[in-house]
Amino acid sequence: MIPIAKPLIGAEEADAASRVVLSGWLTQGPQVAAFEQEFAAFAGARHACAVSNCTVALHLALMALGVGAGDEVVTVSHTFIASANAIRQCGATPVFVDIEADGFNIDPDLVADAITPRTRAILCVHQMGMPCDMPAIMSVARAHGLAVIEDAACAAGSEIKVGGTWQRIGRPLGDIVCFSFHPRKVLTVGDGGMLTTQNAEWDALLRLWRQHGMSVSDTVRHNSRAVIFETYPVPGFNYRMTDMQAAVGREQLKRLPAIVSRRRSRAEAYTAAIAAIDGLAAPVEPDWALSNWQSYCVGLDPDLDQRAIMQAMLDYGVSTRRGIMCIHMEAAHADLPKRHTLRRSETARDHSVILPLYPQMTHDEQMRVIEALEAAVRKQSRAPRAAVA
Ligand SMILES: *Cc1c(COP(=O)(O)O)cnc(C)c1O
Repeated sequence: MIPIAKPLIGAEEADAASRVVLSGWLTQGPQVAAFEQEFAAFAGARHACAVSNCTVALHLALMALGVGAGDEVVTVSHTFIASANAIRQCGATPVFVDIEADGFNIDPDLVADAITPRTRAILCVHQMGMPCDMPAIMSVARAHGLAVIEDAACAAGSEIKVGGTWQRIGRPLGDIVCFSFHPRKVLTVGDGGMLTTQNAEWDALLRLWRQHGMSVSDTVRHNSRAVIFETYPVPGFNYRMTDMQAAVGREQLKRLPAIVSRRRSRAEAYTAAIAAIDGLAAPVEPDWALSNWQSYCVGLDPDLDQRAIMQAMLDYGVSTRRGIMCIHMEAAHADLPKRHTLRRSETARDHSVILPLYPQMTHDEQMRVIEALEAAVRKQSRAPRAAVA
């Protein structure tokens, strides 16, 4: 069976976690601080704040930017449900706009029309690791005085060219960038998240909120020669990352460039193979973007049956997933007003298939996936069409 994904993680990570366990300092300690520094340096951001996962990272980012009850946040429906859950956790309303015609990211041309007097922020998603058109999004945001949060859950190690220079996702083009370290993403610590920003005040707020709103961190009290009594100036949360996770994350960060480069070469091989199969469309990478290919999503012609293709591939021993979900079609958010057409989002969900992709994937494994896909598509093209009366 070829799985959809497989984390590249091994003895280095296990040893690092084991050293932390034996050290006796298990959470929010020196490993977390070191992981934050190294991640900030990798991304090219001034500040990085580690948290328990990306969903809580999004919650804190929205709070730091002042999103609260009654506000609206313009975002996509074509994303993982956590993007909208975090907005609603603030008491705000997600306002969904459609994705681009030739990609899976927010269409910047649709954002301005979705802005109302209640709009406070734009939450854009670097979907499946593919960078959004940040300059276009930022120009709408600046024109309307809106904050921008980048949901980079999938995009650790992706790059974008801005003003002729390549930079990593995580050096904020918006205001705050949020990452996930879930095993389905490219860098994993089991569960974890990170926020990057250039703004020291926001970073200080994030650190306060993630640890119960406590005025003095454990590290400061631990290292102090004088007695310190902490205070609790604001209500907070427990959104901490453990030191075991941070130690694993530091090892993963060392591997990240190699992981991305292997994913990129597998993605190139898929794109070449798909070009030769009728009825399929390879994902488009703009010349200003370098995806980490967290997921590789193939578009299907309208007359191909998504479920039948996925079943035929599964029968052949190849695991796939359908295209990214649409939040507006789920019961959890069915009460949201439907203001804008989301036709492309719905088409992307129902007429695409995500193929297996992981850094340790062998050439033979990839050939089996392509064979399975080609056979599944060909079987349908040969099947007689339903007669039209
Ligand atoms: C995975 C994902 C999240 C949630 O990340 P967690 O770390 O599981 O909370 C949020 N947004 C997007 C786009 C994702 O893909």
